[in-house]
Amino acid sequence: MGAGLNIRKNDQVQVIAGRDKGKAGRVLEVEPEKKRLDVEHGNMIKRHTRPNPSKQIRGGILEKEGPIHISNVALVCSDCGPTRIQRREKEGGQKVRICAKCGKTLDA
Ligand SMILES: [Zn+2]
Repeated sequence: MGAGLNIRKNDQVQVIAGRDKGKAGRVLEVEPEKKRLDVEHGNMIKRHTRPNPSKQIRGGILEKEGPIHISNVALVCSDCGPTRIQRREKEGGQKVRICAKCGKTLDA
């Protein structure tokens, strides 16, 4: 379990603070060192691109997901929605994430 982060790539999360509060999406990328992640359609930022005819790039404004701090998102439980995560050790020592509300295992 890398760097003690509870949220991983491809998790379904909801933004719980900031400009995109309430938005839900899939985690596209996690940056454990910076404790931030990219959420599908979350924190969209505009990036200006210069035209580069030799590479067939027309230039203009490109929209792209921007990083969101990990404390601003919550993992989504399919039964109760955004939730806190608890960890439980299964027989054999494997750690799993469970929903703090209903106890459902959140790991596939
Ligand atoms: Zn739950």
